[in-house]
Amino acid sequence: MAQEIKYKEDAIAALREAIGENEKNYDTAMIDRAITLACEAHSGQYRYSGGDYVCHPLQVACILIELGMDNEAVVAAILHDVVEDTSVELTDIRQQFGDDVALLVDGVTKITQMPFSTKEEQQAENVRKMLMAMSQDIRVIIIKLADRLHNMRTNSGWDPQKRRDKAKETLDIYAPIAHRLGIRAIKDELEDISIRLLDPMACQEIEESLDMHSDDRTAFLADIQQRLQERMQEYGLKPYISGRIKSITGIYRKMYMQGRSFDEIYDIYAIRVIVDTVNDCYNVLGIVHDMFRPLPNRFKDYISTPKSNMYQSLHTTVISQEKIPFEVQIRTWEMHHTAEYGIAAHWKYKLGIQKKDRLEDKVAWVRRFIENQQDVDDAEDIVRSIKTDLSSDDVFVFTPRGKVVNLPSGSTVIDFAYAIHSEVGNKMVGAKVDGRIVSIDYQVKTGEIVEILTSSASNRGPSRDWL
Ligand code: MN
Repeated sequence: MAQEIKYKEDAIAALREAIGENEKNYDTAMIDRAITLACEAHSGQYRYSGGDYVCHPLQVACILIELGMDNEAVVAAILHDVVEDTSVELTDIRQQFGDDVALLVDGVTKITQMPFSTKEEQQAENVRKMLMAMSQDIRVIIIKLADRLHNMRTNSGWDPQKRRDKAKETLDIYAPIAHRLGIRAIKDELEDISIRLLDPMACQEIEESLDMHSDDRTAFLADIQQRLQERMQEYGLKPYISGRIKSITGIYRKMYMQGRSFDEIYDIYAIRVIVDTVNDCYNVLGIVHDMFRPLPNRFKDYISTPKSNMYQSLHTTVISQEKIPFEVQIRTWEMHHTAEYGIAAHWKYKLGIQKKDRLEDKVAWVRRFIENQQDVDDAEDIVRSIKTDLSSDDVFVFTPRGKVVNLPSGSTVIDFAYAIHSEVGNKMVGAKVDGRIVSIDYQVKTGEIVEILTSSASNRGPSRDWL
């Protein structure tokens, strides 16, 4: 793992370099203003590891650039901790950087303030909270994922208990969400870091058993790749072919979470073949099955039936002459981009909807995306609850402590007060929404934080005009 950047000068340089290498037209003047503000706001703050605090948001911004996210998301990433941790207020950000950036920073701040429970029965609730925030603007979640990724990468300053807690929370909440959104690179790294923190011994064992014949393994993969390449050329195909040995985490998952033995893992070796058209995918499949004997019941056509996170490819497991099984994944370049970046590919490669500046379209697209989640093997009921959440006319608002309250749309702050507890309703004298005082007939909207102001004086409380 790369060394953690500890000085703000280095972090600024790294960010500028990432922008320079990217083909996107980032608004460098705006980004520079964000850097200046973040440096000022976080000055004198340090991370657990001792480094300048501002290195963290700057590095999170780098992750977003790598994902190909847009200008607003990158600026919001630079500023994502200032409202939470410094004296800068959301209104300052709105004035200087516009509504879009302010909305993103606000969304990330709200998720940060949510108390996530790691208890099993609370999982659906946690994932639901995240998805709700996402339905406002999916970029909020992507920034939050990058935030968590950078925190996990730089965990050396945490005490052992904190490391375990964060690792567990990451495995329970953040990695599944990255998976749902199809952002493979982030999901894999989050899982990898977490599993190594939670079970270092098992990971070391797997590493050693993989290491034993590592030269043989590399040679085996190279040989298969070359034979495939030659045969494809005979058919006039020029695919991109790569080979990989399954990651430690991937093997760990199959051995310890799915209870298989090392020998029962058929995709320790995998060959990936990338071609230009869907037709070529099936042609390649035919050639592969002609060259190697396929294992029965291991062929999966995720092209005609994509996975719930939009993943598409043909998968087959075949046996080499040496009787070693290996998996072959066949896909087009567009499928490959979606497999790597999932929902983020939409920004990086401009897939999916085009009028992405309209918030409405974005929300609609995310809803469709979630409604398409048909993965039965991962927590069917969570998916069901998400569907009802997002398709019903309900609104979801938060208490100041992050608890979600579900109300019919059109509900007022009074309804909210009574939903919390009738005593709260009876003692209510006013309400604040997102920190601002509102009238008692204010209709709450999804994502707002509602705080009820109460008084114990007996002459206050419910009055007839509330009805
Ligand atoms: Mn952060």
